[in-house]
Amino acid sequence: MTKHETITADETRSAARHVDVLVVGAGISGVGAAYHLQQQRPNDSFVVLEALDSFGGTWLTHKYPGIRSDSDLYTFGYRFKPWVGAPIATAEEILTYMNEVIAENDLARHIHYGRRIQTASWDSATNLWTIEARVAATGEIDRYTAGFLWMCQGYYRHSEGYTPEWPDMDRFKGTIVHPQTWPEDLDYTGKRVILIGSGATAATVAPAIAADCAHVSLVQRSPTYFIPGRNANELADILRQLDIDETWIHEIVRRKIIFDQAEFTRRSFEEPEAVREELLTGVRALLGPDYDVETHFTPSYRPWRQRIAFVPDGDLFQGVASGKVSIHTAEIERFTETGLKLKSGEEIAADIIITATGFNLNVLGDIAFAIDGQPLDFAKTVTYRGMMFTGVPNLVWVFGYFRASWTLRADLVADFVCRL
Ligand SMILES: Cc1cc2nc3c(=O)[nH]c(=O)nc-3n(C[C@H](O)[C@H](O)[C@H](O)COP(=O)(O)OP(=O)(O)OC[C@H]3O[C@@H](n4cnc5c(N)ncnc54)[C@H](O)[C@@H]3O)c2cc1C
Repeated sequence: MTKHETITADETRSAARHVDVLVVGAGISGVGAAYHLQQQRPNDSFVVLEALDSFGGTWLTHKYPGIRSDSDLYTFGYRFKPWVGAPIATAEEILTYMNEVIAENDLARHIHYGRRIQTASWDSATNLWTIEARVAATGEIDRYTAGFLWMCQGYYRHSEGYTPEWPDMDRFKGTIVHPQTWPEDLDYTGKRVILIGSGATAATVAPAIAADCAHVSLVQRSPTYFIPGRNANELADILRQLDIDETWIHEIVRRKIIFDQAEFTRRSFEEPEAVREELLTGVRALLGPDYDVETHFTPSYRPWRQRIAFVPDGDLFQGVASGKVSIHTAEIERFTETGLKLKSGEEIAADIIITATGFNLNVLGDIAFAIDGQPLDFAKTVTYRGMMFTGVPNLVWVFGYFRASWTLRADLVADFVCRL
């Protein structure tokens, strides 16, 4: 759902500054857009407007323990900047990598932070977008005109995560935390923690906090497929031993990963049972023959119908095998004063409940769009290749892949925009 903040007619506006291209957001897509514009359209002027006070988007917003990518950085990294670390990276490592991209290419001068875009209006008489952004520091409105609007605003609201409404949540006497707004001072040492969720976030948080907590109870409505594996890339390691240039290593390893992933995806459609068995065998190997993998780690759907997360070094499963993390697969009936009551009848006590229950989807940045004075309802448009919308001129929207790294597609969309 979209939440538009309004700008009133009498608010102070700056004089409009014109750019050829205005990029919305300085996450991995927006910084990539800036790089590609500079390289491929050196004579075009552009600006990147970012609501937050720094770059990184997802990797800046999320600060929960263990925050890391769930795909490899050879493909989640840009095609133009070699990744030299372990394939699965922490948020901090990704921010360092992005900072290098900004510094090495002198992109900082194009990025303006603390500017939340609130309106974008297209005018067919001038063939221009007018964009208004609220400046966080002063509350004033910055105005721009642009020939082209490049939407790199991601797909969820950065200010708050999604927490379902469960019965009696207000009765719980402990602390409820959403990973997207993790309190810096949250002390979970020696505490009993319930972690609700079965996605990549839950799989990351559980092993990251388990050693310090008294116990972590992971409560999931239904299981998810995971790929446990070593956080290393053998091919990259071999190529490094051979003293191959990092640019080559990046390209070769990317191609190999893209090839392998395409093959894995093909097999998950054509021989889903075999793929399912392989995935479950990987989990069983870490949990031992007596663990109930059928109940807790066997999804009802075929592999790749939902995103599959890589679990580096199988850390989630090590936590389960050690007894520090227990998995409870059942729906939540209600919250209690001391924890949760599940529909299975089980009651779990906790001091802290973490709701790793996802995002508030928000695909176009909570911006009020208008075309020639008429409010734009994107639901009434049809997309062209998932990038452009019927009746919306000179606007491209970046949405990454579902079964491969986001940035692979962000790079491709960038080529398209620059050609266009
Ligand atoms: C914890 C986590 C882990 C993930 N791991 C992976 C992974 O391993 N592999 C993968 O492929 N994908 C992963 N994803 C998905 C991930 O979000 C994307 O891959 C990618 O980081 C998105 O980048 P982006 O730049 O498009 O959007 P974002 O990172 O969401 O950045 C968008 C930026 O736009 C800004 N913005 C939004 N609206 C406005 C506005 N109105 N005005 C100004 N600025 C605005 C935001 O403040 C933000 O900084 C992960 C997501 C999460 C939450």
